[in-house]
Amino acid sequence: MKCVICPRNCSDRMRGFCSVGDEIRISRAAAHYWEEPCISGSKGSGTVFFTGCNLKCVFCQNKEISAGNSGKKVTLDELVSICKKLSENGVHNLNFVTPTPYMCVLKKMLRENDFGVPIIYNTSSYESVSALKSLNGLVDVYLADMKFYSEKLAQKYCGRADYFKIAAAAIEQMYSQTGDVVIDENGLIKKGVIVRHLVLPGCVEDSKDIIDWFAEFSADKRLIFSLMSQYTPCVDSEKYPELNRKLTPSEYNEAKDYMSLCSVDGYIQDLSSSGEEYIPEFDLM
Ligand code: SF4
Repeated sequence: MKCVICPRNCSDRMRGFCSVGDEIRISRAAAHYWEEPCISGSKGSGTVFFTGCNLKCVFCQNKEISAGNSGKKVTLDELVSICKKLSENGVHNLNFVTPTPYMCVLKKMLRENDFGVPIIYNTSSYESVSALKSLNGLVDVYLADMKFYSEKLAQKYCGRADYFKIAAAAIEQMYSQTGDVVIDENGLIKKGVIVRHLVLPGCVEDSKDIIDWFAEFSADKRLIFSLMSQYTPCVDSEKYPELNRKLTPSEYNEAKDYMSLCSVDGYIQDLSSSGEEYIPEFDLM
């Protein structure tokens, strides 16, 4: 069976690049406190980390789950129970991490169940616009990565030179569904799009291009930009020696200053947020 959920357009879903097939596998389901403050709040975000990934960046810090062979196999009913339990435990939202390969099953679940909290779709943004359109009305908040502007970097680090073009179109579609960001009286997000960008070592010029793109795209809209510093070296150091280090303060300051120069408001992660202690344990084995 062909799969067109993302632009990899795998000819056989069962042997697709994301390694998901027709199973539901999750690696962790728990309240998570390290997202942006409007998502984590005081009670945490109800994160469900799905196993497998349709992008698989070479520097992924969650490699043990993105590879697709870890995690626990669950049925749809069990997934519904997990989400209900998280919601009953008081989390502010349900936050589906790397959900794209599971889009069909998530649509079915969200059409049939009301969990009583905002639904967050936490994605690499590498998905087709036609697939995203089918989520209209089911997702409240898109937490969307914008990883690379340069085709060369995207090709080198995730094997997809078209990343920026695909992700920019996807984010446009996400915004058309949610409209402007809405934050409630407790500072929690209810709907909208947050665009996340992780600054990579040696790639500050690419970060500036992304900030330029965001400034232009959001000029007449209300989206949130989130600049992230948490890069933790997890690469094959022989193949990618340039990525085998943390960000320097001067690199990160350059990206922060450029945000301010472009009048882009948003979240700026503290540089001390890099390190393995910020990688959740994927313990739902
Ligand atoms: S979601 Fe998975 S199977 Fe479908 S096109 Fe993308 S990588 Fe291939």
